[in-house]
Amino acid sequence: MRYQQLIFLFLFFMIKSSALSQNDVNYEFSLNEYADFLRKALSNPLIVFVTQRQLMTYHDSTKIVISIRHDIDADMDNALRMARLEHNFGVHATYYVLSTAGYYCGEHKDFSHQQSVLSKIKQLQALGHEVGWHNNVLTLQVVYGIDPLAYMHRELAWLRSNGIKIDGTAAHGSRWCSKYGYLNYYMWKDCGRRLYNKNYPNFDYVVKSPGDTVWLAKAWLKDFGFKYEAYCLDYNKYYSDCCKYYDPLKKIDLDKLKPGDRITILMHPCHWHWDRAMRLVKLFPNPISLTRGLFHCEFNFKVTSRIQLFITDLNGRLLFCKIYSPAENIAVPFNFEQRGIYYVYVETVVNGKMLKTGNCLLVY
Ligand SMILES: [Zn+2]
Repeated sequence: MRYQQLIFLFLFFMIKSSALSQNDVNYEFSLNEYADFLRKALSNPLIVFVTQRQLMTYHDSTKIVISIRHDIDADMDNALRMARLEHNFGVHATYYVLSTAGYYCGEHKDFSHQQSVLSKIKQLQALGHEVGWHNNVLTLQVVYGIDPLAYMHRELAWLRSNGIKIDGTAAHGSRWCSKYGYLNYYMWKDCGRRLYNKNYPNFDYVVKSPGDTVWLAKAWLKDFGFKYEAYCLDYNKYYSDCCKYYDPLKKIDLDKLKPGDRITILMHPCHWHWDRAMRLVKLFPNPISLTRGLFHCEFNFKVTSRIQLFITDLNGRLLFCKIYSPAENIAVPFNFEQRGIYYVYVETVVNGKMLKTGNCLLVY
């Protein structure tokens, strides 16, 4: 008879303590899939890849033009992985560097650069990619009281004096933008209200609290040596891995693109991995360890609404799924015969909100 493991306490802990939101879990896209996409695109002689800088001036209505945009929000090392992959295919993209990210400013309270980031930015450029500025300076102004124009002049001067050619800027979005209702590109006089978004209504100023109003800095792109803001570039199709938690590559049908199409694809390197294991281990630093055999779990708390439990392998292939009603005794008999990493998660509704939470299972 197989060894039976009761792990109800682990799952109880997992549900109580996990702060993961639904989007964290769904943000897992595959670099293998990206490689397949590039391979297929490059087999079509009508498709041309250009950087965002080249998109400004490249106009050929007999071609399908694709420009890959990477906003490096959090993970510079993964950006370099993607950059090497693209380089191996002879594809060049644009990488926007975020100066408020840990990889750039480290522990510096004034968000100034740490010297060590330079060699990585240089590597991106040496691989043939464009480097741009991922603009978050209105956040520095609104949230941290930093002079956004002086800050940007100083950091751009440092980057350029070290041989980084920067022509473009792309606005970064964050919870601060949602909280205070502005977007980082509202600062550009060139864009005007063309990109105004009513979900971010504060175009000119933000009232942080009664009596504390911050007038947003305004400037021209050319004041900073910029030639474009990425959101203002001329494209007719736009795909992104943010906001909707969708894999943008699954939404692009390469066979349906037509000459004259101009496409921007926004991919955040922190969401793309060769291996779901790497992503899962990062997401779940305290995985559940099991020896091979029959897995059997029970919840030692009352389920007050319907709960759905899933177990998948690392490729997202569903291995087990069951819906449980309130008050039903939840038990999952599942036989792990293979060593490896699995993913177990539940979906339920708590206080009217969908909650998705899970953990990694290491089976050895
Ligand atoms: Zn960003």
